[in-house]
Amino acid sequence: MQFIDLGAQYQALKAQINDQIQAVLDDGRYIGGPQIRELEEKLAAFVGRKYCITCANGTDALQIAYMVYGIGEGDAVFSPDITFISSTEPSKMLGATSVFCDVRPDTYNLCPESLERQIQAVLAEGRLTPRAVVAVDILGNPCDYDAIIPICRRYGLILIEDAAQSFGASYKGKRCGAFGQIATTSFFPAKPLGCYGDGGAIFVDDDELEQLIRSICVHGKGPRGKYDNVRIGVNSRLDTIQAAVLLPKFRALVDYEIDARQKVAERYNAALGAHFTTPFVQTGCQSVYAQYAILAKDTETRDRVVAHLTEKKIPNMIYYPTPQHALPVFGSEPSYGERFENANDYCARTLSLPMHPYLDEVQQQTIIDTVLEAL
Ligand SMILES: *Cc1c(COP(=O)(O)O)cnc(C)c1O
Repeated sequence: MQFIDLGAQYQALKAQINDQIQAVLDDGRYIGGPQIRELEEKLAAFVGRKYCITCANGTDALQIAYMVYGIGEGDAVFSPDITFISSTEPSKMLGATSVFCDVRPDTYNLCPESLERQIQAVLAEGRLTPRAVVAVDILGNPCDYDAIIPICRRYGLILIEDAAQSFGASYKGKRCGAFGQIATTSFFPAKPLGCYGDGGAIFVDDDELEQLIRSICVHGKGPRGKYDNVRIGVNSRLDTIQAAVLLPKFRALVDYEIDARQKVAERYNAALGAHFTTPFVQTGCQSVYAQYAILAKDTETRDRVVAHLTEKKIPNMIYYPTPQHALPVFGSEPSYGERFENANDYCARTLSLPMHPYLDEVQQQTIIDTVLEAL
């Protein structure tokens, strides 16, 4: 059994993926081939943005988003305490300071009240300038944008949506990737839309921003091309072969994988809801369940379930064992008295079960029975 069965997906899409890759090999445009623009146009239209700019991975996408706004020394970037380090790594890399916020107890996403408290604490201290908020749609579940957007407006902060886990999810009629001045995603193989290597993308609506991002992605190229460098940039591109893999996978995601993920989640919810806290999705929203995470009643129970699953060879993971504020690398970031109660509680009790659109009912029942046996 696989935690995320990419092999089953490949079998389902093999002919299309092979044909697309073959077309790139025959054409020979390994960098910047026509499949790149085709993909960018399709993804932008799906998300409801004017532009999609592909790049080398989701971490670069975030770093480029920070660079576009010149975030650096003296700036405070607010982010949720539960995320993968990519959301906050660029902050430290560029000399800014990450200010972590607690998460909501139900969705584990950025808590708007904690965000506002942290902004006010930074303002009161007067040492850092509040600049940006990175809202992460954790586990594929959209953030509380109706609460977060007005806070960003009130304090004049840039909103960056980290949709690495939520491509295909939606919030009140809008797709994830459509929120904030700039949004980013990842095509790491295990993400809801993954390629066969590394890949990422940035979504914006603003014409100047699009130009600036395309420049940063290619060594700060100027109007006369890549030997006309006008700023410091990076080398961050999606390979044409990865676009070729993504085109049929994107079709499958839209046509049936998003729905299949809902069905798998519903079966888990029904079978495990009496014993575990199952995922909470806000009204009018849809998660893509990048991970299907449940909370046991305490750490001891979680650890017992994990040990039993592992013994029975059922793949399982903990996303994430450590909240950001407790990572050694962030030891010196200021906490402003925030106690991160929800984030600590989440990490102490969470575990993730196999989740992918090709998980059949028989396999899923085995997983469910094994989880319940452990109790
Ligand atoms: C995976 C992930 C990223 C980074 O993506 P890569 O393509 O692996 O660099 C960023 N943010 C979150 C929340 C992620 O889960």
